[in-house]
Amino acid sequence: MARAPFELAGTRIPPGSRAQIDVPVAKLYTHAPLHIPVEVVHGRQPGPVLLVCGAIHGDEINGVEIVRRMLRLASLSRLRGTLIAVPIVNVFGFVQQTRYLPDRRDLNRCFPGSEAGSLGSRVASLFREQIVDLATHIVDLHTGAIHRTNLPQVRAQMKDRPATQAMAEAFGVPVILNAELREGSLREYAQSRDVPVLTYEAGEALRFDEWAIAPGVRGVQRVMRLLGMLPTDRRRHAPAVAEVANGSSWARSPIDGILRPRARLGARVARGDVLGRVADPFGNAEQEVLANADGIVIGMSNLPLANEGEALFHVARFDEIEEAENAVETFHSDFETRQEL
Ligand SMILES: [Zn+2]
Repeated sequence: MARAPFELAGTRIPPGSRAQIDVPVAKLYTHAPLHIPVEVVHGRQPGPVLLVCGAIHGDEINGVEIVRRMLRLASLSRLRGTLIAVPIVNVFGFVQQTRYLPDRRDLNRCFPGSEAGSLGSRVASLFREQIVDLATHIVDLHTGAIHRTNLPQVRAQMKDRPATQAMAEAFGVPVILNAELREGSLREYAQSRDVPVLTYEAGEALRFDEWAIAPGVRGVQRVMRLLGMLPTDRRRHAPAVAEVANGSSWARSPIDGILRPRARLGARVARGDVLGRVADPFGNAEQEVLANADGIVIGMSNLPLANEGEALFHVARFDEIEEAENAVETFHSDFETRQEL
């Protein structure tokens, strides 16, 4: 029997073809229509339906570039299954260069949403019905919040979820955070429907960080190979090693002041290490920001201006800290080698 076309928002995409679809989401109050841009690649052969989406938080733009590069891969001509690529989910926030929707809601706290709710709730409901519910697997692309940067990391439920766990390990970045599900997030919604889902968190909002983008593109490809959507790679790269963190916590600013960071992203730190120093503009009343655990710095603030209690360094804890440190080093040197090629 011939493979059926794939249908998204009323557009039918025959097997072996691709289409760009503008899914109507709302009208601005200027009367101008607003769309979520989607590209569907429908393979000739049957297989999973993978949704890769970026900018659910409108200012997290590394994912937009990851999706663009994904769509240019020559190997997609041999795709098995279907790729639904959504570079920008929160189109409102993207235009405004902000994380939020115009009603100041966080779209990633609005799922599953409802047709009769607030703007956030309506956008979540529409995105879910028209796009998310078609997917059998999901990769959701994020970065750190504004002025914060993340070491490339995957967040996923690693317990009793073998399919999600396999995707997280295949992605091939050094750190996996077995992170709690946020209420109303896309990840929570997908998980509640038993759809394997992971979040890729890398780099900083409103930036293009090559060290976050390139591994993201490779990570999605690795997941697609795992799922049998792309042919296996004949160039045998050593498998990337990822360590699962057993928890994480933020080291916060002890006072109001100006931060001089000392620890770097990816650094191994021991409890009590000085991660940075905070002082007033004259250098008076200086205090140290101390690591509150042994671990790896997986996120940090890039803005040196801190109020007391401000989250400055995100430290992940590992059972095997030695191996986590090696995984980060291998990841960095692998990235540099590829840059030189
Ligand atoms: Zn985000």
